[in-house]
Amino acid sequence: MADRYDAVVVGAGPNGLTAAAHLAAAGRRVLVLERAGRVGGGTRTEDLTRPGFHHDVCATVVPLAVASPAFEGLALAGHGLEFVQPDLALAHPLDGTFAAVCDRDWSSTAATLGADAGAWRRTVGPLAAGFPSLLRELAGPLPHLPRHPGLLARFGGPGLLPATRLAGRFAAEPARALFAGLAAHSAQPLSRPLTSSFALLLAAAAHTVGWPVVRGGSQRLADALAGAVRAAGGEIETGVDVRSVAALPPARAVFLDTSPPDAARLASAVLPPARRAALERFRPGPAAFKVDYALAEPVPWSAPDAARAATVHVGGTAREIAGAERETAAGRHPDRPFVIVVQPSRFDGTRAPAGRHTLWAYCHVPNGSTVDMTGRIESQIERFAPGFRDVVLARHVLAPGDLERRNPNLRGGDLGGGDLSGRQVLPRLGLVRHPYRLAAGVYLCSASTPPGPGVHGMCGAAAARAALRRELRD
Ligand SMILES: Cc1cc2nc3c(=O)[nH]c(=O)nc-3n(C[C@H](O)[C@H](O)[C@H](O)COP(=O)(O)OP(=O)(O)OC[C@H]3O[C@@H](n4cnc5c(N)ncnc54)[C@H](O)[C@@H]3O)c2cc1C
Repeated sequence: MADRYDAVVVGAGPNGLTAAAHLAAAGRRVLVLERAGRVGGGTRTEDLTRPGFHHDVCATVVPLAVASPAFEGLALAGHGLEFVQPDLALAHPLDGTFAAVCDRDWSSTAATLGADAGAWRRTVGPLAAGFPSLLRELAGPLPHLPRHPGLLARFGGPGLLPATRLAGRFAAEPARALFAGLAAHSAQPLSRPLTSSFALLLAAAAHTVGWPVVRGGSQRLADALAGAVRAAGGEIETGVDVRSVAALPPARAVFLDTSPPDAARLASAVLPPARRAALERFRPGPAAFKVDYALAEPVPWSAPDAARAATVHVGGTAREIAGAERETAAGRHPDRPFVIVVQPSRFDGTRAPAGRHTLWAYCHVPNGSTVDMTGRIESQIERFAPGFRDVVLARHVLAPGDLERRNPNLRGGDLGGGDLSGRQVLPRLGLVRHPYRLAAGVYLCSASTPPGPGVHGMCGAAAARAALRRELRD
């Protein structure tokens, strides 16, 4: 009897849904199974604090989604996806009323970087000019024959450097701090190789596609992807916690939008022992400690530009940020953490009742940490927005353990799909054979595969492509 499905996808995060959408669009019969009550994974939106305050549980700012080649051809706008651009992509307040900014409008950026404006443009400009092509180069496993070798070299050369080293190009604090904040998205000590690549990619995005949010909350992106799956004939079931691939309906290929250790557990019976052992060894990265806020009014930032950006990097100078990330990597909890703050309701009025606001803030903590960072996060925000605590109506804390309980991919609160240091860099860059294909008919498609974390669906699309070349060829 013919199998009812060509492919079963375990997990409806952005990568699982993107894999399913491409497979369904290619005419394959697809079933998606998700353990939570709703699709979305890291793009779920819930009323965490009070009714009518719509909070993104994880991702809100989605520059890589706007430009993602993986979302092309899926007609997501037709399924309700709309991006909202804030006035400024990113603001980075320093003490006093000044904030450095990074934006699509070069002149806004230059005005805040003073004498470093030229060096910033020389560093980021060529990458910004080629950003869509750069994203395409990064969309699959390396090494491959690049279509834009010059562009890749301009990214890869400086990107390999530690951020502390590349920031040496800048003479003054605004550009140094801006660069350090961008690089700190790596959740690594900024003295480590490759940390510059995060800063370069995120800055290039800010200068071209901006750092938008999704109108109505990131859930709308997940719902749009689910819409694309269903429109192409795919099926989605929620509330199904898959324990083993052996228990799945028969199919020619299984896609796991899971952590590597969970993939090893689910597919243990069919994986070659060496592959299983490698997946089990995959180390989680640092965790997020996140607080969601319902606010009575906007944050009273001292720097006016901080009110004009959806994303605000709160951490002070480059030295302070590097110190905070170093402390975290050493297993400690910095007194003054680097805090990423996002205030989507300033630009998307659908997220909160009229006149009210939503905001989230998170900092990095050691994996599995049980230390409450709420006070330290709020002290950092107060430093740049005196009176912040007075506008808080309600708060909801997501400590690392809470994040993992909601989504097992966030092991110990890991927000990046695994640690980015040591030998793990090789599989994460795709510098091993078959980063997606674990065994015949078994694929890993989560953010632990290349090109890595973020809402872009490129891991899922690349895994789907790999299977369409083999088990699902016709
Ligand atoms: C606090 C936080 C903030 C973030 N902010 C941003 C941001 O602003 N912008 C950005 O681009 N990225 C952000 N990210 C990262 C982004 O959310 C992830 O990189 C992205 O969601 C990864 O997508 P994924 O599909 O690989 O996995 P996930 O989104 O984690 O989805 C995996 C899905 O699989 C399901 N699943 C797992 N195991 C099983 C099983 N056995 N059976 C059934 N279902 C299963 C899970 O329930 C989940 O729904 C953030 C992450 C965190 C933690």
